[in-house]
Amino acid sequence: MKKILITGGAGFVGSHLCERLLNEGNEVICLDNYFTGSKENIVHLLDNPYFELVRHDITHPYFAEVDQIYNLACPASPVHYQYNPIKTIKTSVLGAVNMLGLAKRINARILQASTSEVYGDPKVHPQKEEYWGHVNPIGIRSCYDEGKRCAETLFMDYHIQNQVAIKIIRIFNTYGPNMNPSDGRVVSNFIMQALRGEDITIFGDGLQTRSFQYVDDLVEGMIRMMNSEPEFLGPVNLGNPNEFTMLELAQAVIKLTGSKSKLIFMPLPQDDPKQRQPDISLAKEKLNGWQPNIQLESGLIKTIDYFKTKL
Ligand code: NAD
Ligand code: UDP
Repeated sequence: MKKILITGGAGFVGSHLCERLLNEGNEVICLDNYFTGSKENIVHLLDNPYFELVRHDITHPYFAEVDQIYNLACPASPVHYQYNPIKTIKTSVLGAVNMLGLAKRINARILQASTSEVYGDPKVHPQKEEYWGHVNPIGIRSCYDEGKRCAETLFMDYHIQNQVAIKIIRIFNTYGPNMNPSDGRVVSNFIMQALRGEDITIFGDGLQTRSFQYVDDLVEGMIRMMNSEPEFLGPVNLGNPNEFTMLELAQAVIKLTGSKSKLIFMPLPQDDPKQRQPDISLAKEKLNGWQPNIQLESGLIKTIDYFKTKL
């Protein structure tokens, strides 16, 4: 049994991670300021004596004795991270400093939830970890992209300078139950619109692509990465390489919900990446053959069932 701290534990990914790590017999501290997360995601865990919920903002220091830290706190949807861009970059950068300082002090292993956004609007396709990316430093996505890039730098520097045991994962678009219905990301938007019979909002021509990973596959990869050999620091891509256009995603959602919703086209937001697909050879090699097992249709069915309960 390990003591594990999960920042952002009341969010979409964090809530799945809390549940899985508790089920495996660990003690979990879930730390969250509820900006985009919700108690509802973890309320069923509150009776577990090995689960502790703490309201805390990681831009301020926090202290606890733990063996491992998963640093997930940060809004992930463009709508939410652009709401208060200064706060977003503070969460990534000051949050990383605070959590790395804690890891250093208590000698804990720490994993950073980085993102495919570090590749920006990529000129290399699919994206391998050695690609440095194509990111606008002063656009509307920069608070998130550059914040996450700076957090990666801090992780590496704390490792080199202070021997902190770090792990960095780059997560590609992930979806599943416990996403906030008003999260604003494409999968939750399309499903909620289809279930409510509203127009489905396609930004741009809908030919931009994303590769969608079901949350259980991500959680499996995160835990394997945290417990991988000490010399392997990452960054490592965790995503599902099956790539879809937003039009294909909308059609799949309409088919699976049986909805009569129509597609409407809206302006493409500034700096919206045109394509994104992970190269996962490194994860396969270093994480005991890890690969996603749940493909889009079956993942969407589970997610649609979840959102039906939220109507
Ligand atoms: P989410 O918005 O559902 O969860 C983020 C959680 O962090 C929320 O519970 C929120 O309340 C909390 N939080 C935000 N700022 C905080 C702060 N200052 N202090 C404490 N808590 C704070 O998003 P998610 O999809 O679960 O993402 C989790 C992590 O994974 C994020 O770091 C995100 O950048 C990363 N990630 C996610 C995806 C994805 O597709 N889901 C892709 C790439 C990276
Ligand atoms: N998108 C869309 N309609 C929506 C929300 C998003 O067409 O209602 C598009 C968005 O422009 C982007 C893609 O879907 O090209 C993925 O957007 P999301 O916000 O989920 O994540 P991103 O990968 O852009 O961070």
